[in-house]
Amino acid sequence: MKVTLDNIRERESRHVLQTYRRQPVAFIRGSGAYLYDVDGRKYLDCVSGIGVTSLGHAHPGLTAVIADQAATLLHTSNLYYHPFQAEAAVRLAELSGLPRAFFCNSGTEAVEACLKFARRYWHTQGVTDRTGFVAVMGAFSGRTLGALSVTHDEHYREPFGPLIGPVTFVDPLKPEALAEAVTAKTAAIIAEPILGEGGIRPMTPAFAAAINEVCARTGTLFIADEVQTGLGRTGYPFYSRALGLDPDLMSVGKALGGGVPVGAALVSERVSRMVSPGDHGSTYGGNLLGTRAAAFVLDQLMNGLIDHVKVVGAHLERRLRALALQHQAIVEVRGAGLMRGLEVSTDAMAIVNDARDRGLLVNRTDEVVVRLLPPLTIDTGEIDRAIEVLDGVFSTASQRARI
Ligand code: PLP
Repeated sequence: MKVTLDNIRERESRHVLQTYRRQPVAFIRGSGAYLYDVDGRKYLDCVSGIGVTSLGHAHPGLTAVIADQAATLLHTSNLYYHPFQAEAAVRLAELSGLPRAFFCNSGTEAVEACLKFARRYWHTQGVTDRTGFVAVMGAFSGRTLGALSVTHDEHYREPFGPLIGPVTFVDPLKPEALAEAVTAKTAAIIAEPILGEGGIRPMTPAFAAAINEVCARTGTLFIADEVQTGLGRTGYPFYSRALGLDPDLMSVGKALGGGVPVGAALVSERVSRMVSPGDHGSTYGGNLLGTRAAAFVLDQLMNGLIDHVKVVGAHLERRLRALALQHQAIVEVRGAGLMRGLEVSTDAMAIVNDARDRGLLVNRTDEVVVRLLPPLTIDTGEIDRAIEVLDGVFSTASQRARI
């Protein structure tokens, strides 16, 4: 049977739990910054599987490493040693400044682990009532009950209560509110350096300073959720460091395996001293395939890819700012490196749909923001092509608005 979009949709609609609103396209192949659908149509991918495929699709080096590991040994569990957890952990320590890693399988699990380690830190010291968290309005940290508890959107939370608590959400534009929100019962503050799902909104220097001040004064731990911002996406290894933050814990996921599901909770020495064998675990977490892929991706980042992001990220920003001057519907350009958002006054989903029809993939976040998360390997010519398509899309949108 020939694979068509219609027969995939029909079979999914009967047998796959309907938790996703999919766009009407099915991809079967990729190469570099491009994806190909079931009909062979080519798309410039400025979504990267939501910030995952940082090396582009079918990267020859990553493909070779994955194929070699699959043919050698995939998984043994955490009952035994293998070489690659240490390989990935050494590189993560060098990039993040946090010396130890706990490996898991997703960003959500990384957040979950950070929340648990933060509580464990206090519990081990006999402080059993510092269990609360302070999170940020607009934050998205995942969908398991712990990660959901520090995710702000009521729409995601409300049907699944009661969640873990107490969690207090603070407006990131009111840094003065942070000192009041943190109490003697707060285990940790958790925040994304740039709100990703919350509309590509960078943390202000004033809010970063308030986190540093309150953590230094009260001993409260700081968890940087770097699942979307981390691993070179912004032109820095981790954006929390660029903001002058000094996290005790970091959640990492998405790009870590370049598409192989692997996440990590990165932990400071003072937190790791409070964690003992048996405190947390995962059957798959840190298996040979995932951590070997991660070590490969990290090598690419450390050997020039982050510097490349700085250069092409600045080019993307210049081009997007010029585009915004030409199109009134673009209200604001935000972000850093290759993590960019255009807040629009027009229907953002119509922009996404029209761009896709023209062979460019971007996505919508926070209702009014068109987000670009291209592969970190994208070049300036491909960025220029994406801008050209967006120029056409916004021109059509403004013509539509005038009719
Ligand atoms: N944290 C942040 C900042 C994210 O953007 C996401 C996903 O978008 C998550 C956590 C959850 O990651 P995952 O969906 O890979 O489990």
